[in-house]
Amino acid sequence: MRGFSTVLVERGDLATGTTGRFHGLLHSGGRYVVKDPKAAEECYAENVVLRRIAADCIEDTGGLFVTTPADDPGYADRFLQSCAATGIPAEEIPAAEALRREPRLNPRISRAIIVPDATVDAWKTVWTTARSATEHGAQILTYHQVVDMTRDGDTVTGAVVRDRSGAEVRIRAEITINATGAWAGQIAAMAGCEVKVLPGKGIMVATNHRLVNMCVNRCEMPGDGDIIVPIRTVSVIGTTDVQVADPDDWPITRAEIDEMITAGEALVPGFREARTLRVWGGVRPLFQDDAPAETRDVTRAHAVLDHKTRDGVAGLVTITGGKFCTYRLMAQDAVDAACKALGTSRPCHTADEPLPDSQDQSFYHISSRLAGRERTLHADQLICECELVRRGRLVAEIERREVPPSLDDIRRALRLGMGPCQGGFCMYRATGILHEERHLSAAAADDAMLDFLQERWKGVQPLLHGDQLRQAWLDDWIFQGVLDVEHLPHVEPAPADAPAGHDVPSRVQLPAQERKSARERRAAGQRGSGQQRPARSQKRTQP
Ligand SMILES: Cc1cc2nc3c(=O)[nH]c(=O)nc-3n(C[C@H](O)[C@H](O)[C@H](O)COP(=O)(O)OP(=O)(O)OC[C@H]3O[C@@H](n4cnc5c(N)ncnc54)[C@H](O)[C@@H]3O)c2cc1C
Repeated sequence: MRGFSTVLVERGDLATGTTGRFHGLLHSGGRYVVKDPKAAEECYAENVVLRRIAADCIEDTGGLFVTTPADDPGYADRFLQSCAATGIPAEEIPAAEALRREPRLNPRISRAIIVPDATVDAWKTVWTTARSATEHGAQILTYHQVVDMTRDGDTVTGAVVRDRSGAEVRIRAEITINATGAWAGQIAAMAGCEVKVLPGKGIMVATNHRLVNMCVNRCEMPGDGDIIVPIRTVSVIGTTDVQVADPDDWPITRAEIDEMITAGEALVPGFREARTLRVWGGVRPLFQDDAPAETRDVTRAHAVLDHKTRDGVAGLVTITGGKFCTYRLMAQDAVDAACKALGTSRPCHTADEPLPDSQDQSFYHISSRLAGRERTLHADQLICECELVRRGRLVAEIERREVPPSLDDIRRALRLGMGPCQGGFCMYRATGILHEERHLSAAAADDAMLDFLQERWKGVQPLLHGDQLRQAWLDDWIFQGVLDVEHLPHVEPAPADAPAGHDVPSRVQLPAQERKSARERRAAGQRGSGQQRPARSQKRTQP
């Protein structure tokens, strides 16, 4: 929007990093207001801006901070004082009123405070922002990994990126912005600079119902499992915060999952009885300039680093830290720094111009998809009953992409396969449609489906008990019993030096230990990190 010629490169699909793996809270700032007021102020200011420019991506649920019997009742006073000091709207309501609004809440809460929290759809926000950027002339290259930075003396002159076929492209740039979140240290190192980012792993668990309608937080210092966020048809509890060494390689343990479910009981008694659908995690980019600290103590505010003043390396700016809800401000600050380095001054308009689809500034509502679906009830097939995805919408998404998308790319774009059945009923339909629309070979279509099942399995497998086990068993019979997926034809791996065939669906860059496709792992007889889908014979021995 400032008139530069720009190119964005991303090693996977858009939003396959932490964005796309986060909690979905559009922060009011309340969560940080006592401990980290600077981050809280940034969050609230951007909350207001995003409601104006990205309304279609936001559900205005409201937020509630409640004092449970396990919490310090005095914290609510500090909370209210800090909100007043930072300008975050906060209103205490009687506990009885909070229980009227949220009937499943713990009846023993003693205090309740309303704040302007909301939920935000990461994928929608990313697609619409990318669409806006392309309309302004930006070029976006997904599945292009930065493998090196080029330098001319003390100046960074661009990057070398590798596409899926292994071909390398050299991109020359007057200025390069390193916006790689928890990976920012790796990219800076390629340019000979040091940036210390602590990857803070957090996990989240989704239940199959909206147990609450507002984002419900415990009114205390941020801790593990102290917030439940209603997202579309599900509720998500989170999160942990554990420092990990490698942002691409971290496990999710059974103990962490149990901790989340137990913590849910403090807010919603009976949480444990809800059907847990899926667990996933992401890594926070926590920028730490000085001595290491506990990850929860590191500020959630962002940092812009001009490497010319910092390290004597011109042509490179790093932006890291921050929150999803401050992404626009982070971009503004990074481009301001780039303008400064280029010796030009161009004003930023991103806070004023609504993004595509948000022009009428109306918020997304839980029944929005249903309303859209009812308009086309007799004219279009329903492909995903859980997320109400129509065939027409699916075909449009498949056709839109230059290269055939993977089913996981489609999941991120449309939420296909994210509801209670976790893809059981929609994925074989989607595979058939992908096959038909992009003229894939049967083998390539089979591989696309298996890769999707493998990806879903990683999030489902650690939670298998009760109703979710029944659902997984049913899904298993659909795919194994009806389609015999284990024995479908598949694409033989191409020789290392062969160019990528275009009928091979794209694959998401998975964490290091998970990068091989399901098929490749089976062929190698490898079990992976305990999350690989067991072969059929092994499965029969399971409960
Ligand atoms: C558990 C958890 C819960 C959270 N909850 C919330 C919340 O509710 N609300 C909120 O506002 N924030 C939340 N956050 C924080 C927020 O998600 C992150 O701060 C934000 O998404 C980071 O965005 P980013 O663009 O900096 O990083 P990312 O989204 O990770 O983007 C960096 C990108 O760089 C790419 N990349 C890395 N290396 C290369 C390479 N060599 N070449 C090309 N590309 C590369 C990666 O693939 C990645 O897509 C949460 C974070 C976590 C972990």
